[in-house]
Amino acid sequence: MDRISELCRSMGIVDLGVADPEAWDSDQLVSSRISQECRPLSIMPDARSVIVIGIPIQQTVLDTAPSIAYRHLYSTVNTMLDQCAQRIAMELISEGFRAVAIPRDGYHGISGLMERPDAFFSHRHSAYLAGLGSFGQNNVILTRRYGPRIRFTSVITSAELPAGNPSGEDLCIGCGLCMEACPSKAIPDSPYPLGITDKPACVAESARLAAMSISPCGRCISVCPVGKESGPSPTDEAIRRIREYVKR
Ligand code: SF4
Ligand code: SF4
Repeated sequence: MDRISELCRSMGIVDLGVADPEAWDSDQLVSSRISQECRPLSIMPDARSVIVIGIPIQQTVLDTAPSIAYRHLYSTVNTMLDQCAQRIAMELISEGFRAVAIPRDGYHGISGLMERPDAFFSHRHSAYLAGLGSFGQNNVILTRRYGPRIRFTSVITSAELPAGNPSGEDLCIGCGLCMEACPSKAIPDSPYPLGITDKPACVAESARLAAMSISPCGRCISVCPVGKESGPSPTDEAIRRIREYVKR
């Protein structure tokens, strides 16, 4: 694990955890939400660990969302996560283990999501089981340091590593700001997993924004007070100018 931690530090990974693949069956929240074929042991039957890595999204850019600036950052962070996961998998394989880097976004773009609004693997649930955070009302993982402003990906491996557990701490304060900010009324008024985001409604908004090259939306992440930087936001004029650059 020391070698993996060192590699992650060198790649700018700020959050690292390990989940036990068997927790997908034993944890009530996760087993009730994730189908059997989307669990690590279905993907790699000899899996012993799921490594979860996280890279944060900067609030200053999120303040402009939806925008070309946020779209670019979102895509860059996804690419970084995929590259880091690949390097971790290669490192494990070179040490004689089996490993597979799960794609950050395991679905066929927005058109694929409109047909089936689920990815084949949930990195949110990996992060939850690794003890990296708790679910917010917006159904996103909140961490103490970054709130929902962090994206995760996962590496499944046959290497046995010390695993974390869900922390039991609920970071969501139930303020409802994410619900108020959602233009699609996609966010439920009760916490996850009682309240489930209306994914088709959220995807429809993404498709609308994609037509202007400014998806994803990001509003429900931007407004969340958990882990929000206390520094000043960009001025209204700066946000207006950034939002001006929209394909119509
Ligand atoms: S991403 Fe946008 S549309 Fe989707 S749930 Fe969040 S605020 Fe609503
Ligand atoms: S905005 Fe408020 S209700 Fe929504 S996830 Fe954040 S803390 Fe929870």
